[in-house]
Amino acid sequence: MINKFKYCPNCKANIKAYNRPALAAGRLIDCASCGFYFYLSPSPTNGLILENEKGEVLLVKRKYPPKKGYWDIPGGFVDFGETMEESLRREIKEELGTDITDIKYFTSTADRYLFKGIDYHTLCFVFLGKVVGKKNLSANDDINEIKFFSKNNIPVDKLAFSGLKEVFKKYLSSFQQSNRPPKTK
Ligand SMILES: [Zn+2]
Repeated sequence: MINKFKYCPNCKANIKAYNRPALAAGRLIDCASCGFYFYLSPSPTNGLILENEKGEVLLVKRKYPPKKGYWDIPGGFVDFGETMEESLRREIKEELGTDITDIKYFTSTADRYLFKGIDYHTLCFVFLGKVVGKKNLSANDDINEIKFFSKNNIPVDKLAFSGLKEVFKKYLSSFQQSNRPPKTK
């Protein structure tokens, strides 16, 4: 994330070295010359594990970098002023062309998102939802394929992000332990 920023935006001093403890706390710029701080927190994102009536899980294929061509769950970045739920519904409408009403929080995962040379830290809030009845799902926006996978056939190795793999391990193990849906908290 860091090497794209070479000057203090306040006093234009060269940033010779990054202050590691400050960086870990989200203080991307901690100017030794003028004392200016610039904070960058993890970017909140959302994702939806969407099941159909057969209990299969929908994955979407990423159309653009990062991780172009890898499988992902539908969702995306939260815009300014949105709640997490509003953001998720907007993303689902944009990507799948449908409205999702009944969603339930499942878990969260910290991940990385390398885009145009900047290594963003993300914090993804993962929700569960179901497609009931005939919904015409289509691949739009930044995805170019959608597919339902049975739970024993999820392409975990072809998932776009390492945090997402952990989410699926947790999700799938909850079904191995019992036939009940996974606990939400
Ligand atoms: Zn400065």
